[in-house]
Amino acid sequence: MQKGKLIVFSAPSGSGKTTIVRHLLTKKELNLEFSISATSREKRGQEEHEKDYYFLDLQTFKNKIKNDEFLEWEEVYRDNFYGTLKTEIERIWALGKNVIFDIDVSGGLRIKRKFPDETLAIFVKPPSIDELKIRLKKRKTESEDKINMRVAKASAELATAPLFDEIVINEHLDQALDQAYSLVSNFIEK
Ligand code: 5GP
Repeated sequence: MQKGKLIVFSAPSGSGKTTIVRHLLTKKELNLEFSISATSREKRGQEEHEKDYYFLDLQTFKNKIKNDEFLEWEEVYRDNFYGTLKTEIERIWALGKNVIFDIDVSGGLRIKRKFPDETLAIFVKPPSIDELKIRLKKRKTESEDKINMRVAKASAELATAPLFDEIVINEHLDQALDQAYSLVSNFIEK
């Protein structure tokens, strides 16, 4: 199979990486297809099965781990598993497209380690932890407890930023979108 490129966006939850990934997916010339992750967490709001995530129950997820069906997986929050199925990359490469990932920091680095030449790993940084908390509160998708859990995790995640190929600071969204576009477009043309 012809291998495409792998574009990884990782960041603490609430940094705006999903917005950046969605923006890049509208750029046809980048020939990107979203890697749909599997997760054991509950569906949120407007999310759809097989579009935003493959929503699996916890047991099914664990069986797939046992059967070595994941390229990488992570218990991102307690009992909330997330992972990239090997079949997902094969599906996208078979379409002749490049894969774009919206995944957590450890998953992103694992993909980079497995495919060092094909992968561009980008870390999206919020301007500050306080700003991150404000954004998560505004999103109104998580309880106070869950927000605190995500913020606590963010500090540890920020420390991994230097391990990525590139860092995009999402202070002004327009600038972050432009910077992300240039990085991805240059990498794909290589
Ligand atoms: P959320 O619950 O907000 O959709 O996602 C929580 C975190 O899990 C985010 O940081 C998201 O990027 C990450 N995540 C989503 N899919 C995957 C995946 O396939 N693997 C890993 N390691 N993390 C993922």
